[in-house]
Amino acid sequence: MTKRFDREHSLEEIKANPNFDIVVIGGGATGLGVAVDAASRGYRTLLLEQADFAKGTSSRSTKLVHGGVRYLAQGDVRLVFEALHERGLLLANAPHLVRSQPFVIPSYRRWDSFLYGLGLKIYDWMAGRYRFGKTELLGAERVAELLPNVEKRGLRGGILYYDGQFDDARLAVNLAQTCTEAGGVVMNYARVTGVIKDAGGKVNGVTAVDLESGAELNVNARSVVNATGVFVDDILRMDQSNGRPMVRPSQGVHIVLSRDFHKGDSALMIPSTDDGRVLFAVPWHGHLLVGTTDTPLDQHSLEPIALEQEVDFILDTLRRYLVNKPERSDVLSIFAGLRPLAHNGNGQGKTKEISRSHKLVVSSSGLVTITGGKWTTYRKMAQDTVDQAVRSAGLPFQPCRTASLKIHGYLQKAPVEKQFAIYGSDAGAIAVLAQQYPELAEPLHPEFPHVAAEVVWAVRHEMARTVEDVLARRLRVLFLNARAAIEMAPIVAKWMAKELQRDTSWIQRQVELFTALAHNYLPEADLSEDTAPAKQKTGAAIRS
Ligand SMILES: Cc1cc2nc3c(=O)[nH]c(=O)nc-3n(C[C@H](O)[C@H](O)[C@H](O)COP(=O)(O)OP(=O)(O)OC[C@H]3O[C@@H](n4cnc5c(N)ncnc54)[C@H](O)[C@@H]3O)c2cc1C
Repeated sequence: MTKRFDREHSLEEIKANPNFDIVVIGGGATGLGVAVDAASRGYRTLLLEQADFAKGTSSRSTKLVHGGVRYLAQGDVRLVFEALHERGLLLANAPHLVRSQPFVIPSYRRWDSFLYGLGLKIYDWMAGRYRFGKTELLGAERVAELLPNVEKRGLRGGILYYDGQFDDARLAVNLAQTCTEAGGVVMNYARVTGVIKDAGGKVNGVTAVDLESGAELNVNARSVVNATGVFVDDILRMDQSNGRPMVRPSQGVHIVLSRDFHKGDSALMIPSTDDGRVLFAVPWHGHLLVGTTDTPLDQHSLEPIALEQEVDFILDTLRRYLVNKPERSDVLSIFAGLRPLAHNGNGQGKTKEISRSHKLVVSSSGLVTITGGKWTTYRKMAQDTVDQAVRSAGLPFQPCRTASLKIHGYLQKAPVEKQFAIYGSDAGAIAVLAQQYPELAEPLHPEFPHVAAEVVWAVRHEMARTVEDVLARRLRVLFLNARAAIEMAPIVAKWMAKELQRDTSWIQRQVELFTALAHNYLPEADLSEDTAPAKQKTGAAIRS
């Protein structure tokens, strides 16, 4: 059977042969990494995601591929070494998505430049041949050149250093495509509802539901990997009802502003906020992404909602460093994500002190659970997980191949079709689509460069099933400008309906669902009582 990245095709493959070596639950960074690793080693692999790929935390990160300057300050040298190494591998394997980003730390106190400069020189040295650029100490004038809107009163100088930046949700889709190309099967909108066990109590499969048709799926597996981020404890309870929690969710919020508040190419890094964290203001897709916060939570959801005080905290902190200060009404989008921080056992203390490194656990039933970590280290997490799954299941060992595996879209140089550069090697095909059918070259919104061909492409080749999939995770407009995303929803729904052969009631329902969801991303000032539906807590349902 030829491999196509297509949901119907995945369903047919599962039905034709429901026996897999490795079944992965969860289509975020962690699960996708595991599925790519397992499939590329030659194991028959299936990944099931209950929503869209990267619907959870993996589309809501700060978009940094980084060693973590802060972890170095905390003395977590091993984690920083590993992450810097992985940062280099990711740039090599997905150059169409990862780029070197200059960061500037402005300093207002005499010793700050020296101290941060020293730390970042060590960071450079630790990166070795994977260094992204050379750290430099800067005078106040140069800092003001690189950060034109920075507060100049009391400015003494600063530091320039380099880290990586990427598009998280697009990397997720590209990983799903890579998995398929390596022989794996991936399916979105397929929720795992239970684990199946043999007479000896060993997990040997899962039950799932196809959320589009409502049909049940039963699949057999030599090994089942639970890679469900903040949801890992839910799956663990399917295995053992009285297990101890592994994860402590911590919410991180970002706001998005116009580039008018920060015109240079360099990102601003604020090394110590009032709560002892770092805050980044990073240019991203023509906008400015600012965050994040760290708020311990007791519950988890697929659509976490930013708290008023988190948005205020980000704005207040940023305003202290800028001359032209953003107001709440300047915020274009607000999004929240949940860190699946590995629980340190006692359940006490602030979340930023709980380990960022990953945790791999094998239950007595053989269920393998992987949690914690970062996007940056997803590949290494996957390698450790597959090694473990293979050992536990007694599968014949095959070595890991991902250190040099090119990720779908791989393109060393920017494509000639600059407008579609983010698609890497797919850019040419999208441009051809737009040339062949002039109506597909029509822009979707005056404030964004996207055209209808990208919607058609997302449905045909990127498994997009809902308006939210396209606007939130294929084009990223929801994360950049929620109001513009709401305005784009009807035209996106129209093109999708044509591709998916859906009727006008589907269009109407999709627009309603998306509009309700997108209101969660608007600043409160933008909500008028008559137009704003109650803030909803779940993602757009797939069935209309
Ligand atoms: C605010 C914030 C900023 C961050 N910034 C960075 C950064 O700049 N750089 C970096 O390297 N890392 C960053 N991280 C960390 C990184 O984003 C996470 O470590 C990573 O995304 C976690 O991925 P995951 O796959 O474990 O979880 P998720 O992305 O949440 O994926 C879990 C998936 O499992 C699915 N699932 C759950 N239950 C089921 C079920 N029953 N059946 C099927 N599927 C199911 C969910 O729908 C979800 O898609 C950040 C995290 C946060 C919160």
